[in-house]
Amino acid sequence: MTLPASLDEAVAALAAMPAAVPVAGGTDLMAAVNRGLLRPAGLVGLGRINEIRGWQYQDGHALLGAGLTHARMGRPDFAALIPALAAAARAAGPPQIRNAGTLGGNIASAAPTGDALPVLAALEATLVIAGPEGARREIPVSHLLAGRELLAPAELIGHVRVPLLHAPQVFLKATGRTGPGRATASVAVVLDPARRGVRCAVGAIAPMPLRPLEAERWIASLIDWDGERAALAPEALNAFGEYVAAACIPDPVPAADGTEPPALSPAVLHLRRTVAALARRALGRALS
Ligand SMILES: Cc1cc2nc3c(=O)[nH]c(=O)nc-3n(C[C@H](O)[C@H](O)[C@H](O)COP(=O)(O)OP(=O)(O)OC[C@H]3O[C@@H](n4cnc5c(N)ncnc54)[C@H](O)[C@@H]3O)c2cc1C
Repeated sequence: MTLPASLDEAVAALAAMPAAVPVAGGTDLMAAVNRGLLRPAGLVGLGRINEIRGWQYQDGHALLGAGLTHARMGRPDFAALIPALAAAARAAGPPQIRNAGTLGGNIASAAPTGDALPVLAALEATLVIAGPEGARREIPVSHLLAGRELLAPAELIGHVRVPLLHAPQVFLKATGRTGPGRATASVAVVLDPARRGVRCAVGAIAPMPLRPLEAERWIASLIDWDGERAALAPEALNAFGEYVAAACIPDPVPAADGTEPPALSPAVLHLRRTVAALARRALGRALS
């Protein structure tokens, strides 16, 4: 395994060994190796690259290193900065996974159950991609998750640019069991008072986080942004939950010949109720 000391060295190592793969905490990658799903010809370890282990402030944004571990992001100083990402990091698996698993690995794996992903989608974060010869390019995280942009073999996620909104934001996750576990559904709600916006993303129920944009716009129009407390009536919170859930898990539509479609199965109806409850609670907490 090669252990470069900088992002550019890591990119150069990958360019020199096209069959090698990068490894950060190894929690996803080694699980795939152990299951016999992957046999990398070489590994480029990212664990010694100091420049991607912390964060810095830049023009109203935080520039987060891809090597930040879930454990580090769960600490109070980070939670004061980006509360929803800290909450997602605290919910990501058992302690040994949180100690090793990284933000960059969570994004690159792009598993539907990646807890950081709905938060980054709601925050409209961008990725700073490092390429050969010091090249850097920025793409919206949603483009990578939707497969609209791919990483080239010698590219790495170096940093994640997240706007600092200085307003409440909440991440909630349902696992279908007690204790740590993968999400069956998760919801991130972010308030953006400067733009009078509510942003919401639903994770785990589709290959990538879903944004219920109409529900966001509707609920934002009900909030008294200039009032002392931006509270909403329980009926509005309930309606928001239902709106989000129906947008993400829509009712089946009749076929072109008018044939009635089959009803949603009990499992899907349960998932829809879970999403509605998470969205309602997340917004209620953000406004409380
Ligand atoms: C038992 C268990 C429970 C888990 N529970 C959860 C959970 O509840 N929530 C959750 O979100 N995740 C969970 N995970 C998944 C995993 O821990 C996270 O996705 C973690 O963030 C992956 O980070 P890593 O550093 O370990 O990635 P690695 O395993 O090192 O890498 C994963 C993939 O990303 C690529 N990669 C890594 N870093 C970069 C980079 N900077 N640029 C480009 N590509 C890169 C690697 O090549 C590899 O393809 C769990 C995993 C296990 C094994």
